[in-house]
Amino acid sequence: EGQTDDVLRLEDVTKQFGNVTAVDNLSFAVREGEILGFIGPNGAGKSTTFDCVSGTMAPTDGTIYYRGEDVTGRPQHELVKAGIARTYQTFRPLNDRTVLENVALSQVPDSLFSRSDFRADTEEQTREICERVGLGDVTSQMPDELPHAGLLRLEIGRALGTEPDLLLVDEPFAGLTTEEIERTADLFTSLRDDGMTLVVIDHNMHGLLELVDRVIVISFGEKIAAGTPAEIRNDPTVQEAYLGG
Ligand code: ADP
Ligand code: MG
Repeated sequence: EGQTDDVLRLEDVTKQFGNVTAVDNLSFAVREGEILGFIGPNGAGKSTTFDCVSGTMAPTDGTIYYRGEDVTGRPQHELVKAGIARTYQTFRPLNDRTVLENVALSQVPDSLFSRSDFRADTEEQTREICERVGLGDVTSQMPDELPHAGLLRLEIGRALGTEPDLLLVDEPFAGLTTEEIERTADLFTSLRDDGMTLVVIDHNMHGLLELVDRVIVISFGEKIAAGTPAEIRNDPTVQEAYLGG
């Protein structure tokens, strides 16, 4: 029974792999219409948290609420239909499909997992998404023809194809040039301005702090700080976690 403007709320979420505790009693909320930064050193448990929220895997313990409803352990295709989309750190395009088809197929939630056929009735919307993510000129190319930044755009385009209202983006800035980072950040800001809620992971604080409205910092699976970018930048606990990591 959280505040009504929480889109997502994690309560004491834990994920264990054998005796490795990847996420450790983690609680935080994501507010409607914000860009939340989710940062922490490599291995801190960021991607595993996304895995739990997006239904890629179930948490070992704890509860996840989406718009007030307990969705803990629901399968990913149900969560996609409910409005939660994510990208993966290691891109997952359909390699035997064009850019356009990749985005089109994501508009059929089940096709994320079983490849159903291209639907012509979604083509116009698909083209709009391709243009929005900067792939408007390369819609007939195959994924392996795209540079790294193009593959990132495709990953985001495929997530947008599901018409999410909560978009989880896993380390989008890794391997991008400064210019591409700015373009990608502008895309996130424009999605937020259209009413979408975003959570963006980075293992680095710099760059991300310019973009986000609020930040959660985790280390060894636990939340160590939360606040505005200005608060986080000067937080000694955060600096220590980064120096120690
Ligand atoms: P981050 O995304 O913050 O870099 P991860 O969530 O990928 O961190 O990983 C957190 C911890 O969980 C790491 O110690 C990692 O080795 C471990 N881990 C992640 N996924 C698995 C898995 N499928 N099986 C076993 N251990 C895993
Ligand atoms: Mg990760």
